[in-house]
Amino acid sequence: MSKKVHVFNAGPCLLPQVAIDHAIEALKDFSGTGISVLSISHRTKEWDAVMDECRALWKELLHIPDTHEVVFLGGGASLQFLYVAMNYLEKKAAYLDTGVWAHKALKEAQGIGEAYAIACSKDKNYSYIPKGYDIPADLDYLHITTNNTIYGTEIHEDIDCPCPLIADMSSDIMSRPVDVSKYDLIYGGAQKNVGPAGVIFAIIKKESLGRVSRYIPTMLDYRTHIDKLSMFNTPPVFAIYVMNETLKWLKSIGGVEAIQKINQQKAKLLYDEIDRNSLFIGTAAKEDRSLMNVCFVMAPGHEELQDEFFAFAKEHGMVGIKGHRSVGGFRASLYNACTVEDVQALVDCMKEFETLKK
Ligand SMILES: *Cc1c(COP(=O)(O)O)cnc(C)c1O
Repeated sequence: MSKKVHVFNAGPCLLPQVAIDHAIEALKDFSGTGISVLSISHRTKEWDAVMDECRALWKELLHIPDTHEVVFLGGGASLQFLYVAMNYLEKKAAYLDTGVWAHKALKEAQGIGEAYAIACSKDKNYSYIPKGYDIPADLDYLHITTNNTIYGTEIHEDIDCPCPLIADMSSDIMSRPVDVSKYDLIYGGAQKNVGPAGVIFAIIKKESLGRVSRYIPTMLDYRTHIDKLSMFNTPPVFAIYVMNETLKWLKSIGGVEAIQKINQQKAKLLYDEIDRNSLFIGTAAKEDRSLMNVCFVMAPGHEELQDEFFAFAKEHGMVGIKGHRSVGGFRASLYNACTVEDVQALVDCMKEFETLKK
């Protein structure tokens, strides 16, 4: 038996064990075909069934209205930064600059047309979400990053926006209910909360497409992938298979409404400990604290204990709690498959360390 570990990796994320078990079976024999899922043709009825089920699960779990379609593609969320500008930028777009990913998305749009930062929280190392900025109604779109994976800040509500709204939801998709009707586009990489690396999701308002005058290369045109049900070319078969199993698991435990409650409980457990424990301090503004990525550092005067806590936590089975290099300290990612027990183990570890140091 391997030792009990608690995985808090920021991405690729922890996945439910049942999804991994089913993936192992499918690697040997996909859907009773006698062929590995790695070798089946994507032009078969058995594969069509997986694609159909996966699309249906997305629609069911997020209550996606008929006005929108969901597609699955390769290339990572980073390539979506380019898709966004290609498909939506005509005259001018605004970006809420809340971190490295938001900034990269903006930079990509600026290579295509006119795009600017409507507000920015870089002055405090992206530790908060800017508020009170005016959104011009005549923008092609406003782009937001709902969860800032690196800094542990999150926009907890679907904002009212006078212009089309586009969101990178890579790291909080399926963690809470979303009012999809408020968005022209929601996209993200699966590997932060809904699957393995290698596939992205894009939830697209169908009538929002076709408004730009530029030529859009076939593969970068969302309409291609809507028309061909994400099978214009070979889809990332295995990644989609595992994503589908992950969503089946999510449905079986009550969907996003149920997981939201658990996610709130997990985040509260850890933030309460960070606020109580004299050795640690949170880095994100309290009202903007992410439920998915919890960032914290050693409290002032205790900085020299950082390496010791890393070693202590590692010894107790904690994996992946090192903060991103641009923030330092610690980051625990509490994605859907992370359990209350995992978080409790980390909290116990922090408590024990405090007692040890008193
Ligand atoms: C990880 C991440 C990305 C980049 O994803 P890739 O699939 O690696 O390109 C973009 N946005 C957010 C919010 C992320 O967390």
